[in-house]
Amino acid sequence: MNKSQIIKFLKTQDIKPLIKEADRIRRLYCHDEVLIRGLVEFSNYCVRGCLYCGLRAANQKVKRYRMPIKGILAAARVIADEGIKTIVLQSGDDFFYTKEKVVKLIKDIKKINKGTALTLSIGERPIEEYKAFFDAGADRYLIRHETANSILYKKIHPKQSLEKRKAILYNLKKIGYQIGCGGIIGLPGQTIEDLAEDVLFIKDIQPDMVGMGPFIPQDDTPLAGNKSPTEKLVLKMLALTRIVTKNAHIPATTALATLDQKQGYTRGLKAGCNVIMVSFTPDLYKINYKIYNNKECTDIKNAREAIKKAKRTMSFERGDSLKK
Ligand code: SF4
Repeated sequence: MNKSQIIKFLKTQDIKPLIKEADRIRRLYCHDEVLIRGLVEFSNYCVRGCLYCGLRAANQKVKRYRMPIKGILAAARVIADEGIKTIVLQSGDDFFYTKEKVVKLIKDIKKINKGTALTLSIGERPIEEYKAFFDAGADRYLIRHETANSILYKKIHPKQSLEKRKAILYNLKKIGYQIGCGGIIGLPGQTIEDLAEDVLFIKDIQPDMVGMGPFIPQDDTPLAGNKSPTEKLVLKMLALTRIVTKNAHIPATTALATLDQKQGYTRGLKAGCNVIMVSFTPDLYKINYKIYNNKECTDIKNAREAIKKAKRTMSFERGDSLKK
């Protein structure tokens, strides 16, 4: 698929044929299981200033927290006890958790929860730290490219660059991680051409996982008050991502479920998605992980209902990359 074909799909009003094709490819390469990942959002401190995010350093209104190591280990244990074989650790770019602390945490989690896969989503770090985390036992790394338009990237990520973000993704791949990239759909100032570039970047890098969801404004950020995209546009992007990656693991995101609280997950699953992330962040902290307004918090029950509605089956297996 080239850029003009992608643009044509993104502009089309009748999305049914595209969704049907994405669903066919998903069934062929990923089958009917929807993989459940257990998520722990262990710190909402962040040194960055992403204009869309409620955790940005300049936001004084967010109540900051760092889960104690014991608490993180306990949450990981709850996930493993549920039988879920992927634990995802996520935080802002928080250097309180030094290389040594993260390495120890990884080793402890892997030791206590034998056989589980560990995914990190803790932002931009020096390459030697990524290497140390991998050597300690981390299996996967999620770091979205956010937008493939370098000018827009710079505008909404002060002091950061798309070039660096892309280099990180390629380096993570070289180290041996299963990698996940992904973008935000409907950012203020983003064009259909930009979204087509996102699809082309994903096609080029062929990530093991892609996390992509709609822009949802957060009241305490500079982008407050901007509009979210239509659900139709989000579903088209998910379908195109499925078509160009074939077997990547693609979650129906909480952002999509926030945009369409009734059917977001189910619609995402029907548009090519095969993963749902379930939050195991203790309630005490969860309410303060306010990346965007009204963030949905999925539990197993919600996930099960959405999966049932989509006429699919639920899987707690590791669901490693299908690309290796
Ligand atoms: S998107 Fe990530 S890096 Fe940017 S401010 Fe939010 S938590 Fe920090």
